[in-house]
Amino acid sequence: MILIVDDTPENLISLKKVFEKHDFEVDTASSGEEALKKVLKNSYVLIILDVQMPGMDGFEVAEAISGYSKAKETAIIFLSAANTEFKFIAKGYSSGGLDYITKPVDMNILLLKVKTFYRIYEQNRKLNEMQKSLLEEIEFRKEAERKKDEFISIASHELKTPLTSVKGYVQLLERSVSKGDSETVKKHLNKAQSQLEKLNSLIADLLDISKIESGKLKFNKQNFPIDILLDNVIEVMTQSNPEFKIHKKGLANCEIYGDEMRIEQVIVNFLTNAIKYSPGTSEILLTINVSNDELYVAVKDYGIGMSPEQLDHVFDKFYRVEETSQRFQGLGIGLYISAEIIKRHGGQIGVNSIYGEGSEFYFTMPINLKTEFNA
Ligand code: ADP
Repeated sequence: MILIVDDTPENLISLKKVFEKHDFEVDTASSGEEALKKVLKNSYVLIILDVQMPGMDGFEVAEAISGYSKAKETAIIFLSAANTEFKFIAKGYSSGGLDYITKPVDMNILLLKVKTFYRIYEQNRKLNEMQKSLLEEIEFRKEAERKKDEFISIASHELKTPLTSVKGYVQLLERSVSKGDSETVKKHLNKAQSQLEKLNSLIADLLDISKIESGKLKFNKQNFPIDILLDNVIEVMTQSNPEFKIHKKGLANCEIYGDEMRIEQVIVNFLTNAIKYSPGTSEILLTINVSNDELYVAVKDYGIGMSPEQLDHVFDKFYRVEETSQRFQGLGIGLYISAEIIKRHGGQIGVNSIYGEGSEFYFTMPINLKTEFNA
């Protein structure tokens, strides 16, 4: 928008008319003071400013405007009967542009100048936008790079820990074998095996991530009895975590159409987290039911819980709650993979949690989605 400032009403009217005829949006002010008020309120691309005005003259107005950060990009064209005072114009004024036209105004020249200023303004605006989006993009890359580096370092550490344990147990095994101590051999073999399972599941998660990234995570869907799956999972989890009692509430009483191993992976992930993030507790509640052809499975713990801000991110890739990441081992990818699996079964995943009281992770999915779901 252009602001025309002139104390002579006829000048205002005639200039306004010409610019509006050329499709410019125009505002007017009949004194310097009024102009300053308008500049504070509105954004102008250009101000056409009469120099000789009673009260504040054009130069004073320009000088005052130069102090407004809002008008940093605004150009000014002075209209003056005398041109000797031009040297005063630049004093203290640095704007988007500055020009000077003597009266009587040659409208063609004025229009040409206005159009040029508009073009410069538009180019400036586009350049600023481009610069802003480039800066944002650079930041986003930088951020992705930082996350990747952090992930590689955590992943290497997570892989090295069970590997070092296995190495230790194999050395111990060697000694117990040569001593013929079969009891100790069995104990060390069990320990090595459980570390190898940990290693195996870490590598499987890493492979899943790369499959998701490349769109190659495939599903082998068929009908399976979900109640039996849950009982088996509870049995295995209780065996490896005897300090926890996993209560089951409800029954599906039907078959589910989906990838059995992948659904099991999600439930195991929920239960593993429920155990991991609930030190000092011993109860977990697993709820299952089916209503309106929709399966609902939830795992509730009474552990550390999460704050609302943390909840917003738990399904993000590589996300780990900062304040607990030192205390608990993990890669921050289990829930991301679970969310992908549930999404690809046409379902929804979610969590309710109260900081310090516990969390409840749940998912829903249609029980008989026969057509391949490829969301
Ligand atoms: P990981 O446990 O390997 O870090 P996940 O993707 O399974 O990765 O979980 C992401 C993050 O969500 C965890 O690091 C943890 O901060 C938080 N979280 C997950 N489950 C729970 C839970 N039951 N209680 C509290 N925090 C949890």
